[in-house]
Amino acid sequence: MVTMDKIVSLCKRRGFIFPSSEIYGGVGSTYDYGHYGVLLKTNVKNEWWRAMLNEREDIVALDSAILQHPKVWEASGHLAGFTDPLVDCRTCGQRFRADHLADLPCGRKPSKHPGETSECDLTEARDFNLMFETTIGPVKESGSVAYLRPETAQGIFVNFKNVLQFSRKKPPFGIAQVGKSFRNEITPGNFIFRTREFEQMEMEFFVPPSEAQQWFEHWLGERERWYEELGIRPDHLRLRAHEQDELSHYSSATSDVEYLFPIGWSELEGIANRGDFDLKQHAEHSGEKLEYFDQASGERYVPHVIEPAAGADRATLAFLVDAYDEETVEREGTGAGEQRTVLRLHPRLAPVKAAVLPLVKKDGQPELAREVYRELRKAVQAEYDDGGAIGKRYRRQDEIGTPFCVTIDHESVEQNTVTVRERDSLVQERLPIEGLAEELARRVQAPWSTPKLAPTPATDG
Ligand code: ATP
Repeated sequence: MVTMDKIVSLCKRRGFIFPSSEIYGGVGSTYDYGHYGVLLKTNVKNEWWRAMLNEREDIVALDSAILQHPKVWEASGHLAGFTDPLVDCRTCGQRFRADHLADLPCGRKPSKHPGETSECDLTEARDFNLMFETTIGPVKESGSVAYLRPETAQGIFVNFKNVLQFSRKKPPFGIAQVGKSFRNEITPGNFIFRTREFEQMEMEFFVPPSEAQQWFEHWLGERERWYEELGIRPDHLRLRAHEQDELSHYSSATSDVEYLFPIGWSELEGIANRGDFDLKQHAEHSGEKLEYFDQASGERYVPHVIEPAAGADRATLAFLVDAYDEETVEREGTGAGEQRTVLRLHPRLAPVKAAVLPLVKKDGQPELAREVYRELRKAVQAEYDDGGAIGKRYRRQDEIGTPFCVTIDHESVEQNTVTVRERDSLVQERLPIEGLAEELARRVQAPWSTPKLAPTPATDG
């Protein structure tokens, strides 16, 4: 199993993800995404949108504001109850999440975890609200307090009436949203697994009350399938139903999609049956009627809600962890074993789909390669690289997970063909330049499953 350190170091080395404000020493577990990180996370979010909007016809999109009326958070229960239990250690001066003590490092040796030795002196746990507070307008006065949203879901509930009116949908239907959320986590960490600023992909599915259980089960299956179709190994993925004492006050059932991260099985996505809690709360606090009236049957009811809530950063981390591989390849001709690191990402998720590499920087090869690059770019995210030995350039593309390396050699110039090297099998194939862009686009979209399930020895020419 890959360590988190290896993932962090690859992400830094190849420009996926850096600590934020690094030249000032970083700040509070926040991260910046570089070029390949942006491409990868964008692909993750696009796949989510595709599953919500393109593959079905009962969901519409929304993009609500991060700053909302403070009453939203009063009605939702976040103001009173969005808290984690916090303890201080009087000895080392650090603060810890009381329900995570066994997983957290202690501030001082020889104790491994807070509270483990007699030197540790922990306070009683007290509730700490995770919402970031700010003020709206230039004057800090009462009534100007606002909060950065800690989840995207409430923006959906408060727009229920707008969407119902304009989308011409009736339950069962869903509203989907992707966007930033903020939580002042007591102990963030494990790279982008838990940060204070992160992106969520949430969908609220409104259903007739009698159909809630059936739709809850539907979404459990759908969401698990989504990760598997994008290449996550099924034996590293599981559904875990919450115990009765874990359930939020509003939820009658919640299951987490969990992934086997280097830190152990952890939540990737939560799927909850929220009942009619949210719409009823907002109806009560706003005075607006948030219900559905079925003109055909004359029936009026408050829909129940099934919510699959995923994290774009956490999903990106899971895809990176699952894709990471190291292997020894036998170089054709020399037979010498060479180590390579490769990201076996689903081609649809890979930041770059094709790299165009002229074998040498002369004999018309760079010119032809640039022409091929221009054509490929119209169909897929492509990259041109003519710097350094070909083996080094392959390794670089392996590390960012590029599924196809297109090599231009002397034969290419004479016969208008290229070799296409496939990332996982290392098989090289000669293909005509004509139609190459369409062929690669087709291969990127083809069904794919990770070769990590059935390892085969590889050779690289
Ligand atoms: P946890 O128990 O890990 O704190 P949660 O149950 O509070 O998570 P939800 O409120 O259900 O999380 O949020 C839905 C999803 O949003 C999570 O499954 C996760 O993918 C993502 N998420 C939540 N908090 C964070 C965070 N601090 N950093 C990154 N992603 C997060």
